This record gives sequence, structure tokens and C-alpha cells, in this order.
Amino acid sequence: MKIENYINGELVAPTSNSYLDNYNPSEGKVYGKIPNSNELDIENAYQAAEKAFPLWSTSSVEFRSKILQRIADLIIENLEELALAESKDNGKPLSLASAVDIPRASSNFSFFAKAITQFSSESHENTAIHTVNFTLRQPLGVVGCISPWNLPLYLFTWKIAPALASGNCVVAKPSEVTPYTAYLLAKICIKAGLPKGVLNIVHGLGAACGNAIVSHPNIKAISFTGGTKTGEHIAKTAAPMFKKLSLELGGKNPNIIFSDCNYEKMLQVTLKSSFANQGQICLCGSRIFVEESIYEKFKSDFIAKVEQLKVGNPLEKNTDLGALVSKEHLEKVDTYVKKAINEGGVLLYGGKKVEVNGFSQGYFYQPTVIEVVSNECTLNQEEVFGPVVSLMKFSSEDEVIQLANATKYGLSASLWTSNIDRSMRMSQQLKAGIVWINTWLNRDLRTPFGGTKSSGVGREGGLEALRFFTEPKNVCIQY
Ligand code: NAD
Repeated sequence: MKIENYINGELVAPTSNSYLDNYNPSEGKVYGKIPNSNELDIENAYQAAEKAFPLWSTSSVEFRSKILQRIADLIIENLEELALAESKDNGKPLSLASAVDIPRASSNFSFFAKAITQFSSESHENTAIHTVNFTLRQPLGVVGCISPWNLPLYLFTWKIAPALASGNCVVAKPSEVTPYTAYLLAKICIKAGLPKGVLNIVHGLGAACGNAIVSHPNIKAISFTGGTKTGEHIAKTAAPMFKKLSLELGGKNPNIIFSDCNYEKMLQVTLKSSFANQGQICLCGSRIFVEESIYEKFKSDFIAKVEQLKVGNPLEKNTDLGALVSKEHLEKVDTYVKKAINEGGVLLYGGKKVEVNGFSQGYFYQPTVIEVVSNECTLNQEEVFGPVVSLMKFSSEDEVIQLANATKYGLSASLWTSNIDRSMRMSQQLKAGIVWINTWLNRDLRTPFGGTKSSGVGREGGLEALRFFTEPKNVCIQY
């Protein structure tokens, strides 16, 4: 199976005619080829986008909205094919791709199809000096969108939809590790009648075609989701060119559990926030802090639940954890687990690769729980981005706030308590872009999404995304 770039409305081979291997992580085998694109392909994509911009940016909001809604509908019509492709490419359970990834990719388009019809700007009148100021919100031009492998179509469309809705043309690059659904999206866009050149999807390596997007002199903004190190590199390249930057980066999110919480709900949700998508969600709660008085109870109840999780064939309905995304990632996760144990962590469950019947070469790993006594250990400081959580007890609110905030990251935090005063106090003090209280991954697309500190710069979602993808221009009239 060979996929192609989507440039100027057509599916085309890379100019070099060179291709990369694409792996099926549950089988541990190459199953397809993807374009190994270079600067020239990015230039072609840019030229197509630049040519499409005058018409697209001046088209009516209703027209853009209608096309985006058509794409959303086609994603739902093709849900089965897309979910299967996502599961095959990424290793995630098909059930998860069908229930979450693909429906959410469709919602991203339908949400911004509607949001753009409600987008407005400010005006300021000063009757004393007879002026009216109003703000134009104009599209930026050609923008770049770069996404990671963990929620491939979901995160790719989360950037593309607001960029297109607000009148920009896009050069986009999905992760080379999970390119398949982005290719299927290209086919959907053709079918939906998206004018040629408005969206261009180029496949290839980050250091080659990703970097070519970031360093392109005329690409006006970069919306990036991925690792903190890559984000740093992108910022270094793009900031001196004065590009607008939205960086959604890594996390080391605390999951804080007080004894006064709704225990059963907390236990169920904590299982998910630890291991959903094999723990490969930037919002997973990888550091679990439990109040001393319920620590031992939580430990035994949680392990009992973790033991029941099934690691297996992603296509089977009762599979809880599929394969990790790549062999390199599997090794990285395993190295972190060994290091945690070397540093004095106590392995409570997991810590081993799993050989799944019929998938002997697949990249499967046990859900893993490690008890730690210090927040300074590597496991509590660095992002593993796999099915590994740490457990640690705390004795007071002040102590746990300090622990929660003591990493370089600041993406999200979960808090389990029935005390409303404490919820408010802690929400104010937690250094995170998102705080969930008595819930996790509960997303309303209208809300700002993003992190602080090394978890990123800027916010996605709702009006924040539409503001990011537009340039405010103030016009002052004196009458
Ligand atoms: P990554 O940084 O390796 O790659 C992300 C994307 O950037 C890929 O498309 C890659 O090809 C591209 N890229 C790599 N080097 C580049 C360069 N020099 N210039 C331009 N593009 C380049 O990340 P990943 O391994 O794909 O994803 C995992 C990371 O993403 C984790 O750290 C995770 O926390 C983070 N993530 C963050 C969020 C969030 O919303 N904050 C969401 C999902 C994932």
C-alpha cells in the first residue's frame, strides 16, 4: 500500500520519488510506503496554497462552512475505514479509534464550520472625540500545521479545521509514523469539493519536510503539536522570522486523589487516565498522588483493576491496550521502567513486554505501576508517554500542590475531591493549562486548550484557535 502527497487538489508522488517504510505496530511489520518528501515538495505545496489564497480568503463564510461540514459528514460516512486505518497505523484498539479518534476528527470540522459563522470582532466608540475603532480579523495567508502520532487524525484536523474556517490556506504534515488517515482525509477533501490548493498534505520526516515548513519564509504561522524538544527547535527557527506560533507540547500530569472523593468513579476514571491509548495521550495522568489515609486501599484496588486490563489484538472488542506505536518507542518505555526501578522505585505491576498470540513481533507492553517515594526521580520528571504511572502518597493540600507543580511541565492536572473550597483553591494554584475536577478528558471544544511552562505556548480550541489563525487589524474612523 503506497500513499501519496495531496498538493494542488491532486494525489501526487514526491518529487524525489523516494518512499519511507510504514509499520503496522501490532504486527511489527512494514505494510506500506509513504512519500519521503523534501523542500521541493513543500515549495510546491506552498505555491499551490498561495495561489488558492485570494479566492478562499474572500469566499463567503457560508461557503467555507458548508465545505467543512461536508468534510465532517464524509468522515462519519467513512468511519469504519478510517478507524481501521488508524488502528492499523498506530496500534490503538479499533474500539477506541471508532468511538473517539474518528468521531472527534469529524467534530473538529463540524465545530469550526459552525464557529466561524459566529466569529466576530470588537468595536470601540469614543463620542467625545467622535471616533469609532473596529477590528478586522483577517486570515494570515498560508499557514503550517504539524501533528504527532498519538491521536493522528484527531489532532491533525484540530489544527486544519480552524485554519481553513478562518480563510487561510494550509500546508500540513502528519506524523511520518502514522500517515495513513491523513492520506484518506485528502481523498475526502477531494470528494467534498474543497477547492484545489486550499489544503495541501505533505508526508515525510520531521527534519526534512517538517523543517521545510517551519523555515519557509512565506509561511506565516506554525501550529505544532508534538514533543517539547521538537517544539524548542521549531521556536528557535520560527521566532526570528516573527511567525505566529502555537506549540502544544509534552506533559507530566498529576492526578491528585483526596480521601473525600467519589471513590468508585475516581478508580474507574483513573484507570482510563493512566492507560487509555496505551498511556500515549498528552493528557494522561502519569503521576498519581494519593492522600495518605486511603493510599494502601487505593494501591490494592487499583492494581486489582490494572491486572484485569487486556493487552492484545487491537481489532478485538475486549482489548484494552493495543500496541505501542513503534519499536523505538517500546524500547524507550522499557528503558524508563528499568531506570525507575534502578532509582529505587518499587514495581507494583507490569514492567514487561507482552507477546500477544499471533502477533509475536508486535510492540506490546504491560500496563505498569511503580511506587515512588520522591518526586525528583526521573519517572516523575520526564515524559514517558506510555502505559506507565507512578504512585506516591501525600499528607496535606500544600504538600501535594508543591509536588504537582514541581516539574518543568504544566499541561493538565486532575483533582479528585468533594470539597468545593479545596477545588477552587487548588485550581487557582495548580500550574497547568487545564484542570479537571472529578473527571478526566472531558472536552468541550469551545474551551481554551493548551499548556504552560514547557508544555507549550498559546491555546487551541474555540475562539482561541480562530484568533490565532487571524491577524487583528484596527481601523479608526473619525466622524
Ligand atoms: P515529535 O515532536 O517527534 O513529532 C511531532 C511532529 O513534528 C511529527 O509530525 C514530526 O515529523 C514533526 N517534526 C519532528 N521534527 C521536526 C522538525 N525539526 N521540524 C518540524 N517538524 C518536525 O512528537 P511525537 O513523538 O510525534 O509525539 C509525541 C509528543 O507529542 C509527546 O511529547 C506528547 O506529549 C506530545 N503531544 C502533545 C499534545 C498537546 O496537545 N500538548 C498532544 C499530543 C501529543
